Amino acid sequence: MSHETNMPAEELTCRDVAEFLLAYTDGELATDTRKAFDAHLSQCSSCVRYVEHYRRTVAMAQAVGRTVAGVDAPPGVLRAIREARMKAV
Ligand SMILES: [Zn+2]
Repeated sequence: MSHETNMPAEELTCRDVAEFLLAYTDGELATDTRKAFDAHLSQCSSCVRYVEHYRRTVAMAQAVGRTVAGVDAPPGVLRAIREARMKAV
């Protein structure tokens, strides 16, 4: 078989994981994409850690609600919280 130029649905890169993370944690991913996502996580420990960290950050963002400014966290985490809040509405 020749190579497809389209992105194969069954293979995600770490960049794809980062891109789909929001939809994944929100349960909004299409089934195929979610399978590919899980498949990638099953063989990429750094992405697993990334997802776990992200989930913790989202949980923290929901816990602190509007008092994000008072959180003693590194800039990267604060940015993730902001993004999570934007998504959570
Ligand atoms: Zn990865």
